[in-house]
Amino acid sequence: MSAGFPDFRLGSVLATSFTATLTERRGEALERIPTPQRLVDWLAVSGLAVDSCTGAQLELARELRESIHAAATAAAIHAAPPASAVRIINDRSIQGRAAAVLTPEGTREWRLSSPDCVEDALGVIAADAIGVISGERDGKLALCASPTCQAAFFDTSQSRTRKWCDMGTCGNRQKKARFNANQRKDPG
Ligand SMILES: [Zn+2]
Repeated sequence: MSAGFPDFRLGSVLATSFTATLTERRGEALERIPTPQRLVDWLAVSGLAVDSCTGAQLELARELRESIHAAATAAAIHAAPPASAVRIINDRSIQGRAAAVLTPEGTREWRLSSPDCVEDALGVIAADAIGVISGERDGKLALCASPTCQAAFFDTSQSRTRKWCDMGTCGNRQKKARFNANQRKDPG
């Protein structure tokens, strides 16, 4: 199903995993949910399975994603979030009608009001973003040290000194770049 499409970058925080469906915003931006079906795929692996998604719903999702990105970026630099981003995040949160349910195994699941209600899934993501941005969750919003990325990510490390949104991608690339620069500096 994912053939020909860029892979997802999934983290442990729903809201920032969602913003990571667009990467390299300051470089050659890579859209990881280019089609409605890819949003369906992303929601499925994120515990918010829906049956289908329309083009209009994909647009709503991307609008929410960029609003979360803008508000999270502002929070990371201790600035007030843009008013338009706040309005969109709140609209999505208010209009979502998903319910948290406890499974017999004692884990949480999200129950959507109907299987094609992408809006319910977006409501869950918006509410998660509110929790992260408002500072009520244990962690700290920070901006990725990669100049072409600068993604806002949620640092839950003990020391709160994580530098990259993703160690395997941005962190690794920065390390390699530094290694190559050092190699070039060697005499001979
Ligand atoms: Zn990054």
